[in-house]
Amino acid sequence: MKRPLENCQRAGLTLVELLLVLAVICVLCALLYPSGRCKGNSVQVACHNNLKQLALSEIVWANDHGHDSLPAQLSTNVGGAREFVLAAQLKEYYKALSNELASARILTCPSNRQSPTDDFANLKTNHLSYFLNADAALGTNDNKVLHGDRQIEFMPPGRGAIVRLEPDTALRWRKGIHHKQDEFGNVASTDGSVQSTSNGGEVREIFQTSNQAKNRIVLP
Ligand SMILES: [Zn+2]
Repeated sequence: MKRPLENCQRAGLTLVELLLVLAVICVLCALLYPSGRCKGNSVQVACHNNLKQLALSEIVWANDHGHDSLPAQLSTNVGGAREFVLAAQLKEYYKALSNELASARILTCPSNRQSPTDDFANLKTNHLSYFLNADAALGTNDNKVLHGDRQIEFMPPGRGAIVRLEPDTALRWRKGIHHKQDEFGNVASTDGSVQSTSNGGEVREIFQTSNQAKNRIVLP
């Protein structure tokens, strides 16, 4: 005779459980979406900081060596690193600057699959996340772009590790850079500032204002 009541209780408990599960799913959905965005933003910010430190290290190098020239502009014969740059040997270029760079860790964007290394002796091309503009110069309005995320595409595509930008070269960040929904890449200038640029014309604009035709972009 008690069986119908037991059935009712069992049905009631199941309903409560179902509601609890639904509530947990709602809470998780609310929590997970913003945290995904935050992760993307933190990657973008960490990359921004890397580029800032990198550009400032090269400016410090120029000051330390009593030059108005960046290391990429001066021959290795006078303590610079130009030959490494023109041979697209960025790893050797950074090793030559290891006294000014705080750590080899800043050469790796957090979006890079390769984990960063602290040790310049262990530095491999896979660690290098940033391009270098061989024609960047201090104290000029032209050629102000110094470094940027290597995940940049050139249209028409350039050949080899050094791409000469022409006035009609279109530029865009690769899909999924830093965050799978965003296409924002970072660019460091010779004054030590870093800009986050989108594919909506900004990345092209930044090179145009720095006299695009004179920029040779060295890719790792
Ligand atoms: Zn990056």
